Amino acid sequence: MSEYRKSFFWCLCFCLILSIVATVDLLTSYRQEEQSASKRVANASFLLSEWIHGTMENSDYVLRDIIGQVSPDALRYPDTDLARQARITRLIEAKRTTLPNAAGVGLVDRNCVVTHTNARVGVDASRREWCQSLLKDPLRETFVSHVYTNKAGRLSVTQVRRFPGDGPGFHGSAGVALDLSFFSDRIAQMALGPGGSIVIADTRLGLLARKPARPELLGKTIDQPQAFAFVASDAAYVTYRGRSTMDGRKRLYGARKVDGLPFIVVVGEADSDWQASWRQRALGEMVALLLLCTMAVLMLRKHWALLRHQQMLSNMANTDTLAGIANRRHFMSRFGVELKHAQRHGTGLAVLMLDIDHFKQINDTYGHAMGDQAILACATACQTVLRDIDFLSRFGGDEFAILLSDTGIDGAQVAAERLRQAILQCRIAGNTGVQVTMTASIGLAMLDGSTPDVEAALAKADAALYRAKSRGRNCIELAT
Ligand code: GH3
Ligand code: MG
Repeated sequence: MSEYRKSFFWCLCFCLILSIVATVDLLTSYRQEEQSASKRVANASFLLSEWIHGTMENSDYVLRDIIGQVSPDALRYPDTDLARQARITRLIEAKRTTLPNAAGVGLVDRNCVVTHTNARVGVDASRREWCQSLLKDPLRETFVSHVYTNKAGRLSVTQVRRFPGDGPGFHGSAGVALDLSFFSDRIAQMALGPGGSIVIADTRLGLLARKPARPELLGKTIDQPQAFAFVASDAAYVTYRGRSTMDGRKRLYGARKVDGLPFIVVVGEADSDWQASWRQRALGEMVALLLLCTMAVLMLRKHWALLRHQQMLSNMANTDTLAGIANRRHFMSRFGVELKHAQRHGTGLAVLMLDIDHFKQINDTYGHAMGDQAILACATACQTVLRDIDFLSRFGGDEFAILLSDTGIDGAQVAAERLRQAILQCRIAGNTGVQVTMTASIGLAMLDGSTPDVEAALAKADAALYRAKSRGRNCIELAT
């Protein structure tokens, strides 16, 4: 893997790991916040339902007290014993005043006709829900009616208790009508987060009390699917996330049925409240993550710039600035590698030393700049006839060294001839309009397992070049 890819990979890993750690942390803390909020709404709904339970028990105690003091035989309408009638009426009126939320207390006889009350007596209540329930179910001792609106327009329930009597059947009941406005008074005192809500509803989801108060909605149905599902289910308590149909806020709700009574309480904590600290944490972590990743990317860019700089320096150190090809230094290191490779694998490796003939004359006749052009033209001509795997370098002055890897003697000779021809066909246009041509001599040495080192190989090629020059130049000589 290149240095670039390696550093990119580590940078990516760093950012990925940071993102994963941050995500896991945020998910965990989110769950923790949600659990804490769930506990808070569960506790608040429990306290409220216990309070409702306690309140209804209080009124039931009052009904028991009345039943304990009145004989079922006295439940008559009209009662001929006026003194008894007056005593019982006084009794139930006294009991009513002990219940601050009682709108009325009354007794009915075995036919569900109201015999004593602080309001109108003689009324037939046999069709009322509470009377029906006690008549139909002989084992039922008490009953709390569904919520209804009383004559004064107040939401109320009727709580009744059966008179015990000799023998089977219904012997009468004592009942109290409770004005439910005290629910609102109670929940108004409960502590609540800025976006929270507390609701008491009946089991038909009719709203009985709410905080924040919405008096105009009392008696209206809470149109929330999760609440409907809860009421229809056997569950005593559920937690759910939902949007309020009353104020549109998203909340985490805890809904609880009040045991044995036709009420449910729903306590909600606004998502914006319980998520507030988590959101701050998330924001902090995201900013930190972004900063760290940005720093990592900046460091990566810096590293890449350094790599590029290093590469440029190395290129400069290895490249001949005039000819734009490898220099002697580069050639020597490459030659070492190629020689080892050829020795290990037994492949053919040829080294060619190429020197321009009478180069000094070009310099002397046309000037040094023209000489430079000739060197560049020679390098370009050589490059065009060499394969990609061959290696061309300027060895120094007008001398070039060429490596032909994986090449036998025949191939090397062909390549050398191609180089000689290419240089022969070079035309360098001088500024006076003159066309300069040149030739080159080449010394070729084939390397095998017996060639001890680079220097020995070069000496062989050099000797061959020397012979080529002696033979009259513009020719190729094979090293012995
Ligand atoms: P021979 O056929 O024996 O090679 O004769 P020659 O004139 O080419 O002799 P030699 O190879 O010894 O001469 C090389 C000359 O190249 C010597 C030097 O002045 C010239 N030279 C070396 N480097 C450069 C260069 O970068 N630019 C130019 N223009 N000339 C150079
Ligand atoms: Mg020369």
